[in-house]
Amino acid sequence: MNPASEPAQLKDIVAHAKEYGFVFQSSEIYDGLAAVYDYGPNGVELKNNLKRLWWEAMTQLNGNVVGIDAAIFMDPRTWEASGHIAGFNDPLIDNLDSKKRYRADVLLEEKAAEYENAGDPARGAALTAEMGRLLTANDLAGVRQLILDEKILCPVSKTGNWTEVRQFNLMFSTQGSAVDSDAPPVYLRPETAQGIFVNFLNVQKSARMKVPFGIAQIGKAFRNEIVARQFIFRMREFEQMEMQFFVRPGTEGEWYDTWKAARRRFHEALGLPAAKLRFHDHDKLAHYAKAAVDIEYEFPFGFKEMEGIHSRGDFDLTQHQNLSRKKQQYFDADIDPATGKAYGNYVPFVVETSVGADRLFLATMCNAFTEETITEGEGETLQTKTRTFLKLPPALAPVKAAIFPLVRKDGMPEKAQEIFDALKFDFRLVLEERDAIGKRYTRQDLIGTPFCIVVDGQTLEDETVTVRHRDSREQTRMPISELRAYIGEAVSFRRIFEQL
Ligand code: ATP
Repeated sequence: MNPASEPAQLKDIVAHAKEYGFVFQSSEIYDGLAAVYDYGPNGVELKNNLKRLWWEAMTQLNGNVVGIDAAIFMDPRTWEASGHIAGFNDPLIDNLDSKKRYRADVLLEEKAAEYENAGDPARGAALTAEMGRLLTANDLAGVRQLILDEKILCPVSKTGNWTEVRQFNLMFSTQGSAVDSDAPPVYLRPETAQGIFVNFLNVQKSARMKVPFGIAQIGKAFRNEIVARQFIFRMREFEQMEMQFFVRPGTEGEWYDTWKAARRRFHEALGLPAAKLRFHDHDKLAHYAKAAVDIEYEFPFGFKEMEGIHSRGDFDLTQHQNLSRKKQQYFDADIDPATGKAYGNYVPFVVETSVGADRLFLATMCNAFTEETITEGEGETLQTKTRTFLKLPPALAPVKAAIFPLVRKDGMPEKAQEIFDALKFDFRLVLEERDAIGKRYTRQDLIGTPFCIVVDGQTLEDETVTVRHRDSREQTRMPISELRAYIGEAVSFRRIFEQL
């Protein structure tokens, strides 16, 4: 098999992300803080583009979705109401020989995936169903027994010498008051959703929203993950893009289906191939959920959750209503055809869409990372080599175009600067004079820049430049006056939005 056509390994993506300024390990000079990462100069641009696309797809394309930006700290009672203090636990298990800690549910899921990959999906499904039953019943001894029965071994020590299964709360807490040391701790929110729920009436009233409507939010969330592996897939500090859609009770099924389809279309419109996306219904429903499905992406380490879509009923608003003693009701003046009267007061039901910005970033990087075998030169100089580039959708690329004077003389640098200044109001650009042109192309390929504009001798005579296309490596000549419209069309969000 041609090595260049083998699927990229996670280690290649991690190395590329570091080398070219996308993602660095947090506090790397101190050997790094586990499961915490920083985004570099190109990473932050790519991530911002993803976030802006999601934000606009939610709040601009839907007349009935508005945004908020709630604080990370909330009244601790929020987490009592939401069930996070009592129930936001992961079942953990330790291997006594390797001293490594695992999530019991993940060990079982991996075993189920093994059956599936070995051509026995029924056995895999039976295993996940049994795990779901035990976890729902909080039967931790049963979960341990299942691990023993399945003869699951620690990947490090290769033994089945397991401890009991214990529940571990994932919330980080910190001191909430500078003066009162007995004050309850405040938590770093483990999800952005609750900031939306507690603001339900503020938003509904101030923005004069009518059910059905949605509230969108992008923000940091924190979870003390037991097993933090797989790069930015599972982090202790991460970013969520969540939208809670408030609906009339009884209509949640339709809205669940609508959002499920809409969210899958979004990922496909971003260029993620349909074959690498799949729905996965939850085996174990969270305490708040009536129905839940994940959109999974096929990462280099297998199909894993990227986004969750949950039908949460009136669980959250009712819980907050009970604990805060503030009514969380909406008056629906529409006429119910069944009774001929207004629907009246109710606590709306909620359909949630929740995607991790970091997981979407990772999926985008994995999908864009391309290695192809190319031949260059002719006759004796003919050579084959591997070209690595990021095939990012132009709308997502950190740099939209690079401008190169062919040589550093004859007025070419000045002309390149002129083009840079004319286009910089519209696009993020780089201007590079150093090194041979081929090297400059390569540098842009590695970060996914869709266009390289070269100023050459002819430019000075007829105001045209060459535009080199990242994916095909083809070059076309174009008047400078057409660049703005040409690049603008290629990198526009509109091209993505039109597919939604
Ligand atoms: P998992 O089963 O992988 O732990 P989850 O089901 O707990 O995820 P949700 O609570 O549904 O995840 O969170 C919604 C989304 O937030 C997930 O689909 C994922 O994209 C993102 N997310 C959750 N936890 C993390 C994390 N530790 N690091 C990065 N992203 C995360």
